[in-house]
Amino acid sequence: MRDFTRTPEPPPSQTNRSGPLTFTIQKHAARRLHYDLRLEVDGVLVSWPIPQGPSYKPEVRRLAIQTEDHPYAYGTFEGIIPAGEYGGGQVIVWDAGTYTVIENDTPIDFHDRTRVETLAREGVEHGRLSVFLNGRKLKGGWTLLRTRGNGVKSQWLFIKRRDGLENADREVTAEDRSVLSGLTIEDLAAGRVPEPRASTLVPTGEGVVGAKRLPFSKPYEPMLPT
Ligand code: MN
Repeated sequence: MRDFTRTPEPPPSQTNRSGPLTFTIQKHAARRLHYDLRLEVDGVLVSWPIPQGPSYKPEVRRLAIQTEDHPYAYGTFEGIIPAGEYGGGQVIVWDAGTYTVIENDTPIDFHDRTRVETLAREGVEHGRLSVFLNGRKLKGGWTLLRTRGNGVKSQWLFIKRRDGLENADREVTAEDRSVLSGLTIEDLAAGRVPEPRASTLVPTGEGVVGAKRLPFSKPYEPMLPT
């Protein structure tokens, strides 16, 4: 368990949210570097560390290992978890945005929060979940497929769907700056302190083929690592 008197991570809090569901991916230089994919479901962040990070290439199947659900507020944390604490190391918000679930090749309306949440919950339970991510870096459909185990420590694959938004030339993990502060893991390691410059992380829908312009609620407000 985290000791919240000793780490700058936010403690659990109640959420009462509306509007589209959100996701974040935190790049985390713990004992081993990984990318933590987190989907908001039922007020918490269902989480999968992905050691090699996401890919835009449909033939690339990235291992994702489900971990414990995280408190919602944790999704915008960036900073340094002290050495010796759980997950000690640097964390940046590598990507963030809203998501919906893809059912029968069709993304559910982002604003149908109840339906999206129900399908997400069922998908996690059944070990097969396709999501449409509308982030800053990740836009398009990805599938999460459970291959071994159940619940915490279960193994999944994270695979780009062939939906016209795949991109064999894009090495997205080379885009290494925080979408919140613009800092890299190396910047934090060198002692720079993140000062969130984005007032919100509301994605624009730019670059999404066929995207409809819809008003987004404020899915994220940067949280200072106090
Ligand atoms: Mn992590």
